[in-house]
Amino acid sequence: MKFGKRILEQADRLAEFTEDEGRLTRTYLTPKHREAGEQIAAWMREAGMEAGFDALGNVVGRYAGDRADAPVVLTGSHMDTVVDAGRYDGTFGILTAIACVQDLHKRRKRLPFAFEIVAFCDEEGVRFGVTLIGSRALAGRFTPEMLKARDKDGVTLKEALVAFGGRPEAIPLLSRKGIAAFVESHIEQGPVLLDEGLPVGVVTSIAGASRVKARVTGLAGHAGTVPMPGRRDALAAAAEMALAVERHCASRPRELVGTVGKFAIAGGGAVNVIPGSVEFTIDLRSGNDAHRKAAVAELQVALNEIAQRRGVTLDWDLFFELEAMPCDEALQAALAESVKAHGVAVRHLPSGAGHDAMELAHIAPMAMLFVRCGDGGISHNPRETMTAEDADIATSVLLHFLENFQPPNP
Ligand SMILES: [Zn+2]
Repeated sequence: MKFGKRILEQADRLAEFTEDEGRLTRTYLTPKHREAGEQIAAWMREAGMEAGFDALGNVVGRYAGDRADAPVVLTGSHMDTVVDAGRYDGTFGILTAIACVQDLHKRRKRLPFAFEIVAFCDEEGVRFGVTLIGSRALAGRFTPEMLKARDKDGVTLKEALVAFGGRPEAIPLLSRKGIAAFVESHIEQGPVLLDEGLPVGVVTSIAGASRVKARVTGLAGHAGTVPMPGRRDALAAAAEMALAVERHCASRPRELVGTVGKFAIAGGGAVNVIPGSVEFTIDLRSGNDAHRKAAVAELQVALNEIAQRRGVTLDWDLFFELEAMPCDEALQAALAESVKAHGVAVRHLPSGAGHDAMELAHIAPMAMLFVRCGDGGISHNPRETMTAEDADIATSVLLHFLENFQPPNP
């Protein structure tokens, strides 16, 4: 095994940079962010790259191309974590790329492009409630407003950045142009590859989302005196609607997923009162915007039918919509060739979770490689796991891709 064992050891080492005793939590602009970043930069230099922090706290490593004016191919993933995180989410995408460069450097091989690895400073948004901070800046989509975001102690992002040694005034200069490709490797964070016995998969798109706040209004009444036939029970109606959402999405397993994540009786309810008003949320996600929008429309009709039959009213507030971000077709095909070259069946799959790649897609052709997630596909959890064998195959696939990629002539 060429790469896998070392990558897992490095992931273990990075997991030691944690703010919380006994579990992994590493948030933006903290001392642990700095220590982890310095370790990553040291590994980048050891692999033959120039590396250091940028104005926002991203760690950027550069492996020069075969000529000074070569185009740039970018990769990377995030170095921050959620609270009580797994050790491969984000981290793997950084380490696998460093391993590729180390191998190229050892062979004294230069590519027809400069290869840059970015360890993004904050994707999860745990500290300031702003997600994808590092990648937004590279995409030119970081707004000055974001500097005003505060953490739980009232410290602004700007104050924390200055204390970290960053340069808020230089953030606009981080915006990149003319990038030939952005390719991010990431642990799948789901069970699809695990269930199909595959080490890696090629991502088709990063899912879009629709979110609805629904309010069901019936008629509150005495639990003892109102006969069953005439009741307009908002809770029973809302429960039937939640099951309808589940049924609708379950019947289209390759198209979308749907979740009723909040569900509450107005005022909390009482043991002897027929619920008069219930609010719940629906979260629908799909790699295909047409499927997602059709599901929103069909569910609205289906839930209104339930409301009508039960004599309640349904208020429907579609309060959030995010378009899916499709991966570049040519890059997907190239990644698929590299997967095939390793004797692995090519599985295309959408990403249900958001990633830094969705920001970079605004400025460059984008693709993602997923790596199998063990233990039922659990992630954002200390049980998140990956094997050295899979890390090894994924790294070989990325290296094969890099050595065969011909950037288009600018
Ligand atoms: Zn991640």
